Amino acid sequence: MKRILCLFLTLCLMLPVFAAAETAVTDTAPTGTAVSRGRVVVLATGGTIAGVGEAGKTAGYKPGSLTAEQLLAAVPELEQVADIEAVQVCNVNSDDITAEVWLTLAHTVNEMAKDPGVTGFVITHGTDTLEETAYFLNLTVKTDKPVVITGSMRPSTSISADGPMNLYQAVCVAASPEAVGQGVLAVFSDRIYSARSVTKTSTYHVTAISAGEMGAIGVVRDGAVYLYETPGKKHTTETEFDVEGLTSLPRVSILYFAVDADPALLRFAAEHSDGLVIAGAGAGEFSEAYIAVIGELSIPVVVSSRIDDGVITRDNLLCEGTIAADNLSPQKAAILLRLALTKGAGAEELARMFLEY
Ligand code: ASP
Repeated sequence: MKRILCLFLTLCLMLPVFAAAETAVTDTAPTGTAVSRGRVVVLATGGTIAGVGEAGKTAGYKPGSLTAEQLLAAVPELEQVADIEAVQVCNVNSDDITAEVWLTLAHTVNEMAKDPGVTGFVITHGTDTLEETAYFLNLTVKTDKPVVITGSMRPSTSISADGPMNLYQAVCVAASPEAVGQGVLAVFSDRIYSARSVTKTSTYHVTAISAGEMGAIGVVRDGAVYLYETPGKKHTTETEFDVEGLTSLPRVSILYFAVDADPALLRFAAEHSDGLVIAGAGAGEFSEAYIAVIGELSIPVVVSSRIDDGVITRDNLLCEGTIAADNLSPQKAAILLRLALTKGAGAEELARMFLEY
């Protein structure tokens, strides 16, 4: 009996210790900022995250099938993070995203950001062109409020679909004060990336959205946001690009150089475009045949590299009058060139912009 009483007393004495331990875990959640409640606007555009196919399978599905409301219904935990407002912008495979969709997104964010009740934005998007939409918005939205883009590699009907977790984490980041003023961010598979560096690096893996050599700038764990680095290039409110009132963008073509690439395509592209980006080999290089034709072109030509970790500087340029893309991929260089052309930028201005953004 004495022993039982002793055990009971010991347990009673330990209870506050257990309770304290539990509080301690919550209170000392390392350096991550717990998310605070606010209203997050989810702008849905389609992609695999909204994809539906044969139960269990990861391929052969139809992207852009679920509505924004259906996407949200799959993540009841969002209730605990923020009030959500859903907007269906479009519902497409992201290869069908257009400049008009980009402009609609930018206009919508810019307008809704004026509402003091809105804390942040999440854009659900296909992964194929997620990096392009992210970079376009990074240069054109005029708010410090978090704008976070996400998607998924597996359709909603697959085993272990990654969409719900990515959406949950994206909302956590969009609701977090940590993400304010960081430009457009991409959240995917527990990681946070800057819009300028984010890129798709696999055709099948759940970590397909990453940032190559540049890496992630933060992580999300159980809803807490841990941001370790901040984007170094100008973005959002700091840029000179104002798309208000624009309904279309200048046309820019991208030509991929390879052995025996036909230089006649350069002339064709120049006839049909306002600007040209070349995905050069190595440090933005191409053949003598290319050099000869590029010298004749009267539209701006930006030189990038077909290599993931390609950095092109002014010193790498083979043709006078061309512009170095820095470390922007050809598809991101094309976005900056399109925006620069809305401002009628000449060669010198273009060179400055490619260093600045
Ligand atoms: N083709 C799809 C898309 O970009 C791929 C994905 O979302 O993962 O819309």
